[in-house]
Amino acid sequence: MTAVVTPKTTKPPAKDCPVCKGTGEVARTVRVGRKHRAVGQQTGLCLNCLGSGEAPAD
Ligand SMILES: [Zn+2]
Repeated sequence: MTAVVTPKTTKPPAKDCPVCKGTGEVARTVRVGRKHRAVGQQTGLCLNCLGSGEAPAD
């Protein structure tokens, strides 16, 4: 019977935020005018990870 080698408990690598894919930024559609016509996209802070790029631990 071989001794079971206990692996060192290391913190698992932080998972990338699924929303921003680890970039910390998300593309947001820019809308203008009364009809809120989409004119393009702008990067904004990811509200899921608050810009850290890591999925919040729960
Ligand atoms: Zn994120």
